[in-house]
Amino acid sequence: MAFSYDALIVGSGPAGCAAAFDLARNGKRVLLLDKRLFPRPKACACGLTRKTLAALRYSVDPVVERVCDEIVLQRATSGTVADKSQEIRVKAKTPIAAMAVREKFDAYCLEQTLKAGAKGGSAEWMKIDNILTLDEQPDHVALTVATNDGPQTFTAPVLIGADGSNGQTRRLSTQSKLLTGEEPQWYMRGFALEAMVPYTSLPVPLPEGDGPQDWSSTSLRSPMATAGCSPRAITSTSASAHSPPTTIRSTRS
Ligand SMILES: Cc1cc2nc3c(=O)[nH]c(=O)nc-3n(C[C@H](O)[C@H](O)[C@H](O)COP(=O)(O)OP(=O)(O)OC[C@H]3O[C@@H](n4cnc5c(N)ncnc54)[C@H](O)[C@@H]3O)c2cc1C
Repeated sequence: MAFSYDALIVGSGPAGCAAAFDLARNGKRVLLLDKRLFPRPKACACGLTRKTLAALRYSVDPVVERVCDEIVLQRATSGTVADKSQEIRVKAKTPIAAMAVREKFDAYCLEQTLKAGAKGGSAEWMKIDNILTLDEQPDHVALTVATNDGPQTFTAPVLIGADGSNGQTRRLSTQSKLLTGEEPQWYMRGFALEAMVPYTSLPVPLPEGDGPQDWSSTSLRSPMATAGCSPRAITSTSASAHSPPTTIRSTRS
C-alpha cells in the first residue's frame, strides 16, 4: 500500500518541528498538522537554555532578543513577593540562556522546518480544525482530520503526536488505552494565562535599566541595557526539542 506520507505529525510547536526537521532532512516526506495558523500566541517565557540551543539544528539568532550571563534566584516569602535579602546571583562566564518571544520563535522554527527537505525528503504544513479519527492498522496509521474543505484522511507508517499538553493524539491512541483497557484516567486539561502588565504594577522594582522601553522604532536585536542580559549572537548547532513527542507506531504487526 502506498501511504500518503512517511510520517504524520500533529502539532507544529518546537517538538513537532524538531521531529519534522530531522525526518525531512533525512529523506522522509512529512506532513505537519496544526489547528492554529502561525505565528500564533503561546503562553511561555521563552527562555532558551544552553541545552535547548545546543539541541536545535539551526541558529535561532534572528529571533533572540537577549542573551543572559546572570540569573537571580529569589525566594517568595509571602505570596509572590520576593525577599531581596535572600537573593542569590549566579554569574557565568558563558551565556546561561537566551530569551525570545515565543510567537516569533515558533514561527521561525516552522519556517526553517519547511525548508529542511533534503535527499528527496520534504516537510509540508496544513491547518486542520481537529482530529476526527485515529485508526491504528498493523502497518500504518490512518488519520482523519477536519479541515475547511471537509474531512481528509492521511496515512503513514508513523504518527507523531506533538500536540502539546492538551493534545488529542495521545488520548486517541490505543497505546493509552492498553494500560487500563479504557479511556485514560491520567488526562487532565491544563491551562496557562499570559498577560502584558504595566511596569508600575510589578510587586518589586526591576533592576536598573530594565524599565519601560520604546520598541516601536527598534529591531529585534536592538541593544537593551539590562542587568546580566545583552543582545548577543548565540549559535546553536545540533538536534531535537523541548518535550518528547508521543510516537505512535502500529504495534500489532
Ligand atoms: C507559562 C509557561 C511558561 C513557559 N516557559 C518556558 C520557558 O521559558 N522555556 C522553556 O523552554 N519552556 C517553557 N515552557 C514550556 C514550553 O512551553 C513547552 O515545553 C513547549 O511548548 C512544548 O512544546 P511542544 O511542541 O511539545 O508543544 P506546544 O508548543 O504546546 O505545541 C503544540 C502544538 O500543537 C497544536 N495542537 C494542539 N492540539 C492540536 C490538535 N488537536 N490538532 C492539531 N494541532 C494541535 C497547538 O496549536 C500547538 O501549535 C513554558 C510553559 C508555560 C505554560
